[in-house]
Amino acid sequence: MRGVRKCVFAGIFAAVAGFFAALSSAGQVPGLGQPPVAPSSSGTAATAALAREAAGWLAELIKINTTNPPGNEEAAAKYIAGILQKEGIAAELLPMAPGRSALVARLNAASFADPSKALLLVAHLDVVGVERARWTVDPFGGVPQGGYIYGRGAVDDKAMLAANLAAFIYLKRTNARLNRDVIFLATADEEGGGDASIKMLIAKYWNKIAAKYSLNEGGNVVEKGGKVQYVAVQASEKVPANVTVIAKGTSGHASIPLKDNAVTHLAAAVEKIGNYTAPVHLTTIVRRYFEGIAPLMDDEIGKWIRSLDSSDRGEHAMRVIADANPMWNAMIRDTITPTMLAAGIRVNVIPSEARATLNVRLLPGNTVTALLAELNKLVNDPQVKLEVQPDAGLAAPDSSLETDFYAAIVKAAAEEFGGAPVLPFQSTWATDSAQLRLHNVQSYGLVPFPLSEEDLKRMHGDDERIPAAAFAKGVSLLVRLVSEFAVSH
Ligand SMILES: [Zn+2]
Repeated sequence: MRGVRKCVFAGIFAAVAGFFAALSSAGQVPGLGQPPVAPSSSGTAATAALAREAAGWLAELIKINTTNPPGNEEAAAKYIAGILQKEGIAAELLPMAPGRSALVARLNAASFADPSKALLLVAHLDVVGVERARWTVDPFGGVPQGGYIYGRGAVDDKAMLAANLAAFIYLKRTNARLNRDVIFLATADEEGGGDASIKMLIAKYWNKIAAKYSLNEGGNVVEKGGKVQYVAVQASEKVPANVTVIAKGTSGHASIPLKDNAVTHLAAAVEKIGNYTAPVHLTTIVRRYFEGIAPLMDDEIGKWIRSLDSSDRGEHAMRVIADANPMWNAMIRDTITPTMLAAGIRVNVIPSEARATLNVRLLPGNTVTALLAELNKLVNDPQVKLEVQPDAGLAAPDSSLETDFYAAIVKAAAEEFGGAPVLPFQSTWATDSAQLRLHNVQSYGLVPFPLSEEDLKRMHGDDERIPAAAFAKGVSLLVRLVSEFAVSH
């Protein structure tokens, strides 16, 4: 989690905590508690056995320390190549940098590769670092304890890596007659977004990974009180950019204050920017999300969500929604978050320059240039300049909600989770899917494991863990999904 990039989970805790805050006053939740849809043949003892086997792979993957930097993803890629080899599947390491490789393997529907309908299952090999002293277990031990598997990457993203692998191997073991190619991809440097990341992977190896659809991290299965409340399928994401605020002034001895003090001017600018609220714009996906979530809320919040589009109450509704949940606020507008300040070299020296960093998240379709014009007007100080840093993300088109694959995800998730609502989702965080969408891949984000607020809190934090039962459900969902979408029946 460096620069403008941010793994999917970095934002989830605040998001989900906000969701629960909004839900906490809700009484009976309509739409839930219905009898579960009858399980398909994938919900069998065989899938449960596969999930147990995959839990073993997850534990082994956790033991391979792929903290990024430096990443060292090649060791994990080799471990996966070994598993695939035993299944009779040829895997290929895709070297990105010394010690850093991605891995690709494919099951073809016909005698030659055909990207035109192919499904790509993506997960990343690298993990963020740990504060070892704050863990109660070895973060690289893959320790099973109290029904959980502990370790860095236990959820983000080695669980999805192991679950994707299980679904992929399931197709091979069952000799499935595929109606499309299925590609397994393990990527490097997701947490860093640098020279070993998906952007470079696409540049170097596109012909090996080209696909029409992909499934990646990015969405989530929200669980409360042991029940799945809803499933959020990421089909779009906000676009990150970092902006430096630079205030200049006259330097001098601090015993003689000057009116053009750079620190004072910077502080004034940051205060104005930090309190700025960008205008609301509801994208199609965000509208659909709110339509889906309204019935899960208490009557009051539900009423305001349904009023978002009304001409007389819409503006008030937007204020209520934004106040009710910080994630909702971030879903309906550009956000600008001051994150860093730097000024001064000595206690008694007035510096000639002071800087702040703003982490900006734009709605797809909005530009940083337009936002900066607005902020410059607001700051209105000739001593202060705003500069966009060169690491800005690129806006990608949304994935369509009308594809066969999106429909298959909705169907499989609803079946797996007892009819829980499945909603399209525009994440406030950035994922590798943006790069895939820029290459015309219909990419959807779904971390398939039902996770509680308590477990989401640990992502990128201390004592990261996944409930073994949630992991098994995620494996079952992926097996169901690939069986329904990629196999001829
Ligand atoms: Zn991740």
